[in-house]
Amino acid sequence: MNIQKSIHYFQEAQRLLPGGVDSPVRAFKAVGGQPLFIERGEGPYLFDVDGNRYIDYVLSWGPLITGHAHPKVIEAIQEAAVKGTSYGAPSPLEVELAKRVIDFMPNIEMLRFVNSGTEATMSALRLARAYTQRDKIIKFEGCYHGHADMLLVQAGSGVVTLGLPDSPGVPADTVKDTLVATYNDIASVEALFKKYPEEIAAIIVEPVAGNMGVIPPVKGFLEGLKKLTTEYGAILIFDEVMTGFRVHKGGAQTLYNIQPDLTTLGKVIGGGLPVGAYGGKREIMQMVAPAGPMYQAGTLSGNPLAMVAGIAALDLICDQKVWDEMEARGKQLDAGIESAAKRAGVPVTQTRVGTMRTIFFSETQPRDWNSVKGADKVRFGKFFRKMLENGVYLAPSQFEAGFLSITHDRNVIAATISAAEKSMMAL
Ligand SMILES: *Cc1c(COP(=O)(O)O)cnc(C)c1O
Repeated sequence: MNIQKSIHYFQEAQRLLPGGVDSPVRAFKAVGGQPLFIERGEGPYLFDVDGNRYIDYVLSWGPLITGHAHPKVIEAIQEAAVKGTSYGAPSPLEVELAKRVIDFMPNIEMLRFVNSGTEATMSALRLARAYTQRDKIIKFEGCYHGHADMLLVQAGSGVVTLGLPDSPGVPADTVKDTLVATYNDIASVEALFKKYPEEIAAIIVEPVAGNMGVIPPVKGFLEGLKKLTTEYGAILIFDEVMTGFRVHKGGAQTLYNIQPDLTTLGKVIGGGLPVGAYGGKREIMQMVAPAGPMYQAGTLSGNPLAMVAGIAALDLICDQKVWDEMEARGKQLDAGIESAAKRAGVPVTQTRVGTMRTIFFSETQPRDWNSVKGADKVRFGKFFRKMLENGVYLAPSQFEAGFLSITHDRNVIAATISAAEKSMMAL
């Protein structure tokens, strides 16, 4: 595989950008080798600057459920661009996208658009604290909710992959109200509520964990969170930045039929442009300025290009048939990988919910951060590099989700399975 140009760009980038990248997970640190520099994407494929083509399962870390450069999304952006790139005033596009989001997730009554998932979660937590007039929050070990200070505690793949358990620069005082519980362990949450019955403002949770590899919630876990938050007067926040429009058309809240008080969204909602959102019960959302006193703002929030990209993407995935097809492709891939691993005698456990999946190099299915760590990272690194040589681009860490798109058709999946067969045999 010739990656001469990528090597050249990476050398230059490392002089100008810390680690040569603008987000740490892109750096291939966990798997060895160096990142590829990308020239373009098309459908399920990425093309690097040396002209190599890869079937892409990263999809910009989740947003691209319609594949790269979908003609409908690109057309919408082009049409919007000639009308101006930002107004700093309301436009009908915000109403259009809001209506669509609420159609997908009827539990959301009102929402506010922001520019990233990080902004969505930090704002939702500020809102929950304002509404309950309490300070403490509960998060789960191995769940990631963006890089806000108060959330950089036991924060999953990106942080852990680099061996930074927490981050320097986060004052101890900022995280003193962040309580950490064990994913899929309702007793660990109950214990915190017993200890601080009137101080916990909110639980924030990935309803299907995606940032320690895909870990589905065990039966009763999400129901238990709903029950405890109701009982103790705390706010339940589903961080659906990754799972929204991914595990099911209506997100995890529809799939598992649990109504969180607040929901955070990102990734798919922007169709590949920077958008996030937080929303939920009207009574709570009415506290957001200027309707209420909780301040939160954004110069480029509701940006017209981002709104039209989001509208185009959601319109492409609103038909249930699209979801049935993606489910069938998910099953095809599960079965193919399973038989490839069996034939090669490599123990793997796969997890998948809708269009999110992980291949764990582990005999048993992990259920929390502690058991995830038992997966064989070294073997994953080897598999990752072999897959790349065989034309498949996986997330460069054992502890990440892989994604499908509407462009990953039967043939693309079959090609992926052949690559996996060769790669497993070489382990
Ligand atoms: C990606 C992600 C975020 C952060 O979103 P950014 O747009 O990267 O700031 C927050 N929560 C979850 C669950 C995510 O997967």
